[in-house]
Amino acid sequence: MSTDFARALGDRTSDPGGRRWLFVPYDQLSDGVGPLSREAPEDLGIVVVENPWKAAQRPYHRQKLALVLANLRHFALEQAARGVAVRHVVAHGPYREALRPLVAELGPLRVMRPAERELRVDLAPLVAKGLLQEIPHEGWLTETRDFVDSQGEGPPYRMDAFYRHVRRRTGILMEDARPLGGKYSFDADNRQPWKGTPRAPDPPTFDPDGVTLEVVELVNRRFSRHPGEVDPGSLPATSNDASRLWSWAKRACLPHFGPYEDAMSVKSSGLFHTRVSPLLNLHRLVPSQVLEETLAMDLPLASQEGFVRQVIGWREFVRHVHEATDGFRQLTDSDGDVGDLPGDGGWGGWSGETWHSSNEDWADGGADARFLGADRPLPPAFWGAASGLECLDRVVADVWREGWSHHITRLMVLSNIATLLGVSARQLTDWFWVAYIDAYDWVVEPNVLAMGTFATGPLMTTKPYVSGAAYISRMSDYCESCAFDPRKDCPITPLYWHFLERNAGRLEGNPRMNLVLGGLAKRSEDTRGRDRAIFAWVSEVLGAGGRLDPADEPSVGG
Ligand SMILES: Cc1cc2nc3c(=O)[nH]c(=O)nc-3n(C[C@H](O)[C@H](O)[C@H](O)COP(=O)(O)OP(=O)(O)OC[C@H]3O[C@@H](n4cnc5c(N)ncnc54)[C@H](O)[C@@H]3O)c2cc1C
Ligand code: SF4
Repeated sequence: MSTDFARALGDRTSDPGGRRWLFVPYDQLSDGVGPLSREAPEDLGIVVVENPWKAAQRPYHRQKLALVLANLRHFALEQAARGVAVRHVVAHGPYREALRPLVAELGPLRVMRPAERELRVDLAPLVAKGLLQEIPHEGWLTETRDFVDSQGEGPPYRMDAFYRHVRRRTGILMEDARPLGGKYSFDADNRQPWKGTPRAPDPPTFDPDGVTLEVVELVNRRFSRHPGEVDPGSLPATSNDASRLWSWAKRACLPHFGPYEDAMSVKSSGLFHTRVSPLLNLHRLVPSQVLEETLAMDLPLASQEGFVRQVIGWREFVRHVHEATDGFRQLTDSDGDVGDLPGDGGWGGWSGETWHSSNEDWADGGADARFLGADRPLPPAFWGAASGLECLDRVVADVWREGWSHHITRLMVLSNIATLLGVSARQLTDWFWVAYIDAYDWVVEPNVLAMGTFATGPLMTTKPYVSGAAYISRMSDYCESCAFDPRKDCPITPLYWHFLERNAGRLEGNPRMNLVLGGLAKRSEDTRGRDRAIFAWVSEVLGAGGRLDPADEPSVGG
């Protein structure tokens, strides 16, 4: 391989003799945690593995492939520049096969426990034989003990109990054993729509160097079947790029993070969200540093607490749920089959082609949770076919342009609409997994299967996060440019009522659903008939990849 990257790595190569070796997976790209943070570079060697075989197992967004590969290569170069010996290999199959010859040559390797179950399963045979020595992953901010101690007899698992426990144990945002400001969460104060001020910041852009451009070219050539496009200018690839993104987030986003956390707008895809998740999940940004620097800032408490809750609360909590349920393979309260092959997130239905995944016992199709019995295919609208629903079309366009959108668009537009339409939660999860640049099994499955769709029932959240048009209209400006009117003919509201009707039997007895089920009971049979007709109309049109037109909307019960 004679490339910019290979030449640069060759130039920086140190003598590999007499080193202790560490395997660094694709999402542990940091010398801020683990052995790389405390052992002398001249005593250490690292193995980094590029794996086009894994990249081709699902139709991942090209931006995601470029992000992972560019960061992995830059990390290898940065470590070599510090004097760490680097072995860079290209795998064409499971990681364990790529590592075997290296273990034979270098001796047993250490590895911090992988975050992704998929990688843990792949490496398990080497770990069992002692050829890989698993050491704790030091990137996490909490321990299993925090989860266990906070959840009582759980499941069900509850984030607020976990978060309060972590705040108390660590003393973060606490004063005299009481939460700063008198309460643990300021969420209730943080639900403002955004009307254009303060001005939403533009995300930073990056100057791709030769190594990054080579990755972009490689991804476009080798993964040309993959959806999405690579935008090199929005690709943080080096350690400096990561620092620049975080500096921007601190300066431009955090001061206004809290109040507009739930807002959505056509004028800004990210508003005051920090966009750090892709780099946190790769450990190009280290969670402890992000936390410490946030705590050291002079910020309005609602914004500071709101952000801290995401990082020490939600992010850590979902990872514990993933571990405790073995990626939802051990489910309570819902059926959960496991498919044989990684899902394509509806890519096949949309493109008319088959995505060939190979299975060498390294990955299965994941838990197919169905608490609400949802089993319909994901409509082509999620792959870019215009649906006529402005909120959906806007967010889908953002996702395919950036490989990212913020939390509320994920929850209250994409997951909401898919859930109202009875779409298979597994297929939706796989769609998020391939489309988002921050998605890995440990984080995407809890967020979609459990939080976004309620497919695991009350395992992790108390109720489904579903809403009609009123919520989207209140929290966004999408409706202003929509052919539908949120107060008159928007189909999302009847879809919401029909969702409740369809699932009333499963949701009855849930105290948080009493009010809305009471509202459902008051709807006349004619109105419910119209809800059903609209559900059938929307399902048929979107299922066929068509566009909804207000003029075609059913107006009478049926
Ligand atoms: C349906 C759905 C799917 C999601 N899929 C993913 C995913 O694949 N990968 C992912 O990292 N996050 C996922 N999330 C959580 C959250 O939406 C993203 O972490 C966040 O939008 C990333 O953007 P940001 O960095 O600007 O976040 P900010 O709003 O700035 O929040 C700061 C950080 O908090 C963490 N965080 C906040 N909420 C969560 C959460 N629920 N789970 C985990 N971390 C959280 C993230 O690390 C994030 O970077 C999903 C949420 C939903 C509802
Ligand atoms: S009117 Fe309905 S479909 Fe259109 S943007 Fe608003 S909520 Fe979405």
